[in-house]
Amino acid sequence: MIDETDIAALHARLRGQLIDAKHAEYDAARKLYNGSIDRHPRLIARCADVADVIACVNFARDHEVLLAVRGGGHNGPGLGSCDDGLVIDLSRLRGVRIDANARTVRVEGGCTSGDVDHATHAFGLAVPFGIVSTTGVGGLVLGGGGGYLTRRYGLTIDNLLEADVVLADGRLVVASAHENDDLFWALRGGGGNFGVVTSFVFKAHPVSTVFAGLTFWTLDRAREILQWYRDYLPRAPGELYGFFGFKGVPPIAPFPEELQGKRVCGVVWCYSGALDKVDAVFKPVRELRPAFELLQPMPFPAFQSLFDALLPTGLQWYWRGDFIREISDEAIARHLEHGSNVPTVLSLMHLYPVDGAASRIGRNDTAFSYRDATWSMVIAGIDPDPVNRERITAWSRNYFDAIHPYSAGGAYVNFMMEEGQERVRATYRDNYERLVAVKRKFDPGNLFRVNQNIRP
Ligand SMILES: Cc1cc2nc3c(=O)[nH]c(=O)nc-3n(C[C@H](O)[C@H](O)[C@H](O)COP(=O)(O)OP(=O)(O)OC[C@H]3O[C@@H](n4cnc5c(N)ncnc54)[C@H](O)[C@@H]3O)c2cc1C
Repeated sequence: MIDETDIAALHARLRGQLIDAKHAEYDAARKLYNGSIDRHPRLIARCADVADVIACVNFARDHEVLLAVRGGGHNGPGLGSCDDGLVIDLSRLRGVRIDANARTVRVEGGCTSGDVDHATHAFGLAVPFGIVSTTGVGGLVLGGGGGYLTRRYGLTIDNLLEADVVLADGRLVVASAHENDDLFWALRGGGGNFGVVTSFVFKAHPVSTVFAGLTFWTLDRAREILQWYRDYLPRAPGELYGFFGFKGVPPIAPFPEELQGKRVCGVVWCYSGALDKVDAVFKPVRELRPAFELLQPMPFPAFQSLFDALLPTGLQWYWRGDFIREISDEAIARHLEHGSNVPTVLSLMHLYPVDGAASRIGRNDTAFSYRDATWSMVIAGIDPDPVNRERITAWSRNYFDAIHPYSAGGAYVNFMMEEGQERVRATYRDNYERLVAVKRKFDPGNLFRVNQNIRP
């Protein structure tokens, strides 16, 4: 229980803002990316520095207040916030410092991937993140992190060298291969279960201009294209990344009028290898005569943010996911049944590759277990209008129920709703018990429990 005196004492300790329901910015501050989630925290602390984070952690622990940690606020089930508790909002911690000689980047815990791309691109470098630049680095990394560079350079966690972590007891520790290596192991896939990460250090890679874009086919060719894709992509070089999807075509340029509003299948490509090889690499794709092709060289950050405008904050989202090892003809039949009927123009099914460099790490080397998966699938019902919430939710659930029997079992924690403890265990498989041991060591009271929770 907390009273106004306790809150005033916390306020006095912070350099950042402390926002409650009476504050003019309360509604803006509590808003999450997923517009279908409406949480009302008691307090939101927009921390200005690590000392603020420590003060908030100590406050929540000592007063037994529910604690949520918010990075970019993009989490599907809204696990960057909570009702009635304290939210540590990291959105002011946005510093990025590059060491161009060492090719490393220190990234504060509230950065979006766009913040980092912007900073690294000036040095011709990039860190592998996800495909929408407004996504928070914090949640993305701690779950694993897949994106356009995954097949070449691994998941985001495979490029993590070090993290500064505020633990449940208020201590700040460094986690790396040399210090607190058990914590470092758990942070790489175990989510926000172990503390607040105030900064990350990543390895960066020389990626500047990529050859990238999309190819769409009409639905009557979906079976042929998905069969081709499942055979082609796993054999393609690591420089080539392409995710397959069912989707609606937005009613805007540059999409051709005859496709606008229609349902299609397609592949979004990113080739980060030598540009003089592009014609050879894309020859097999072009031989499949896409109904629409938009492929061109572009600065990597431009491609990373290509879909940002289509997916602004506040849309309704409901998503389900699974890891996929192989795609059988029978599974393709289920995909065609459900994927051909995406309920709204923004809704989608995507198969994100997690093979290549990501699969060359052992399944017990980091907490992220599904190193033997080829794809991380997401089925996302998305629409601006809350009226359609039931419809997009039902479509995602039905699609998931039909395709789940063909999956590898668990799901990427960042593509899950709140689906219960069995799903969390299925995701970590034989890493779960080790995660529990690390949780008992660093957070025995489960202070950090607004997440896909590892129960101590
Ligand atoms: C449009 C969109 C595109 C996406 N694309 C991709 C993609 O390409 N690849 C991919 O891997 N994922 C992708 N995701 C999923 C994304 O990784 C998750 O939604 C993730 O949870 C977002 O992190 P966040 O910091 O924005 O979220 P938040 O809602 O702020 O936090 C999510 C969870 O992480 C914890 N957390 C966040 N920051 C910290 C921190 N610094 N320290 C401790 N705990 C923290 C929170 O407590 C919470 O449990 C996408 C999501 C969206 C909405």
